[in-house]
Amino acid sequence: MKAAIMYETNKPLKVEKVTLDEPGVNEVLVKIMATGICHSDLHFMKGEMPAATPVVPGHEGAGIVEKVGPGVTTLQPGDHVVLMVSFSCGKCRFCNEGSPTQCIENLPIMSMATLPGGHTRLHKGDQALQHLFGLASYAEYTVVHERSCVKIRDDAPFEVVCLLGCGVSTGIGAAINTTGLKPGESIAVFGCGGVGLSAIMGAKLAGAGKIIAVDTLSKKLKMAKKLGADYMINAKKEEPIGRIMELTGGGADYALECIGNVDVMAQAFASIRYGGKFIVVGMAPLGTMVSAAPFEFLLGKTITGTVQGDIKPSVDIPRYVDLFMDGKLPIDKLISHIYSLDQINDAFRALERGEVIRSIIKF
Ligand SMILES: [Zn+2]
Ligand SMILES: [Zn+2]
Repeated sequence: MKAAIMYETNKPLKVEKVTLDEPGVNEVLVKIMATGICHSDLHFMKGEMPAATPVVPGHEGAGIVEKVGPGVTTLQPGDHVVLMVSFSCGKCRFCNEGSPTQCIENLPIMSMATLPGGHTRLHKGDQALQHLFGLASYAEYTVVHERSCVKIRDDAPFEVVCLLGCGVSTGIGAAINTTGLKPGESIAVFGCGGVGLSAIMGAKLAGAGKIIAVDTLSKKLKMAKKLGADYMINAKKEEPIGRIMELTGGGADYALECIGNVDVMAQAFASIRYGGKFIVVGMAPLGTMVSAAPFEFLLGKTITGTVQGDIKPSVDIPRYVDLFMDGKLPIDKLISHIYSLDQINDAFRALERGEVIRSIIKF
């Protein structure tokens, strides 16, 4: 089977023939039908986040279970699944307290780029290949832990629902779960890429009052308006903090930063009201720092962050799929480009140039 391999950072991926072992205990073999092209992979490809190489990236996958390994109880061949970027063991304190995206095993899997358990199933000749996020979805097939999959209904299009594995559910979840937004409350969303636009859709669903979109590209702001934003601020043309203060009468109840830029994070924090909540959603390069004046905390302002929008995957993903299928969550509008696996480097170039909102690889 074919997979896209990253041998070193800042070099194009190579699409090559590789071999994949049979699924082991609690693992399943998934035929990937579609996978999203996400900025998080790009961070690893550019060396902004560390990854062991050679590695097969890709984490926004959807496909069909072809085979199950020993001990698998939650899935069977033929099941349609979405792969989850954040792994949850189901046993640790965080999982048991209802915060599976904070699972103690998640970060080690991400940094080791192996399957849960520390092993790999991918090879190129004698050489082992790592599985980025324990998923490695830039491949025709992958072996993943059964807990990395969420079973979904059979009639949902893979090329749309694959986006729910990471960025889209991150945005929706951040706007609904992490804020705890109540109907009528205001929210400012900084950065209208796939995550930010998903947050706008989530805020709309949750009944937000004023939804304020901030970006520097007018075409992204146009899309934000289409998906539910009430006010659009082009940060190249006007200063967002003052404008948000004016629109909300003293600051937004919530602000989300969906880019991973520390300067924008400072702006977002400055744009919330006393007692408001600022949420870091974007993934800033490791080593960067964000600064805030302590006095702001005396005003009751909160800074927090989220992994995958604090969703509970087994509950929220099927729910988001239903909302999409019912026309209430138009996440298909985010897809601007569709590529084949062989075109993967074109897809990343377009992403880097800011030409796409969300692009996918269809198998
Ligand atoms: Zn856990
Ligand atoms: Zn992602």
